[in-house]
Amino acid sequence: MFSKILVANRGEIALRIIRACKEMGIGAVAVHSTADANAMHVRMADEAICIGPPPSADSYLSQSAVMSACIVTKSDAVHPGYGFLSENPSFAQMLEDHGVNFIGPSAEHVRRMGDKIEAKRVMQSLNIAGVPGSDGPVESSDDAQRIANDIGFPVIIKASGGGGGRGMRIATGRDQVEGAFTEARSEALAAFGNDEVYIEKYLDRPRHIEVQVIGDGKGNGIHLGERDCSLQRRHQKILEEAPGPAIDPTLRARIGIQCAEAVAKMGYAGAGTVEFLYADGAFYFIEMNTRLQVEHPVTEAVYGVDIVREQIRVAAGQGLSIQQDHLNTRGHAIEARINAETVPEFRPSPGQVTTFHAPGGPGVRMDTAVYTGYEIPPWYDSLVGKVIVHSEDRASALAKLSQALDELIIDGIEHNAPLFQKLCANKDIQDGNYHIHWLESWLNETSW
Ligand code: ADP
Repeated sequence: MFSKILVANRGEIALRIIRACKEMGIGAVAVHSTADANAMHVRMADEAICIGPPPSADSYLSQSAVMSACIVTKSDAVHPGYGFLSENPSFAQMLEDHGVNFIGPSAEHVRRMGDKIEAKRVMQSLNIAGVPGSDGPVESSDDAQRIANDIGFPVIIKASGGGGGRGMRIATGRDQVEGAFTEARSEALAAFGNDEVYIEKYLDRPRHIEVQVIGDGKGNGIHLGERDCSLQRRHQKILEEAPGPAIDPTLRARIGIQCAEAVAKMGYAGAGTVEFLYADGAFYFIEMNTRLQVEHPVTEAVYGVDIVREQIRVAAGQGLSIQQDHLNTRGHAIEARINAETVPEFRPSPGQVTTFHAPGGPGVRMDTAVYTGYEIPPWYDSLVGKVIVHSEDRASALAKLSQALDELIIDGIEHNAPLFQKLCANKDIQDGNYHIHWLESWLNETSW
């Protein structure tokens, strides 16, 4: 087993990983920017090292700074968390080249799955179909026009290197294709340094269903069922649940086994998420994330598995501690992402938290790095915590979420807990009757 893991991240996910390290008797090293000198992950780790100034590009995203921190602290592995360097193949490669373990799949798997066109090809070859669309990259707006005509409107033009809901444009008719193509390309170039785009049929009212998988890198793979992450704004998730309200045990076993077999055949090592759009009983693959997800706790709750621990075991060559036959879901879990932002405008709201109080009680988990007096820096994303509830069924989980949100106090800044309170009281949400466009239309109809 590793003796020291460097956690190349910040905020709640850094704390989550530090916890797992300490429980496993492994030393935890924090890295931080100068803006995060007083952050909780710095305090909770066994050692901390400053890696640069506030902008992420000069600190959390700086491969050489993180690599140097590994060498200085003699860390034998790096856990990248999510975001930042977690899906960067050259970072994974740099660690491999220096004999430091990357807690995640091989650089080659990170690279192949990070290219969404290539990921669709790989999955297709493993009998997992994608959303109908272009076979590969679309080179010109004329090509885009021709393909869109073939598959029928509406279509979505997506960045091959995309993430975080960026680099996507919808065209509902012929006259919108050129503009959508040009905009998707330039946004992709600016955000990901790669302007390659592809086209998919734009599905009308699908659900976003994703399957949690873990491969041991030795030809074995398991699945931990699905999460429904259909509640999104600007293609970004805000609330996730497991099991999915629209997925029954037979469907779960079918799609789960397919995904587990896919990672087994790929020789994939570590945790991953196979994402689908689900409509009318059919699953359409959209992408695979080769890292821990923000929403992993809902799966941990219903399966009783510590996913970070399994990631660390696999990276250390110890294999999985769990077997598919022994895994069963229990009850229902929901996660609400608490962002420091105004509602309903969703403008970031950094600043000092004057009072912080976390909800508690049976079946309530709050993952956060916030404390009373903490200054939320303006430099990073607005996620300040996650409230996760677990109960025997969906209705009681929603009631528990509402109660937990009532208990949550984050004074001094604006946050989105009131949005979730309204959602808990909404009939469609209570009935589990929603899809990926539901939230945006509901926001348009709701007065605040
Ligand atoms: P990212 O990597 O940026 O998260 P994804 O490919 O995972 O991009 O898509 C994110 C979200 O965008 C999906 O959950 C869905 O809401 C929307 N989306 C993506 N592809 C389609 C599609 N073909 N039809 C409708 N919505 C889509």
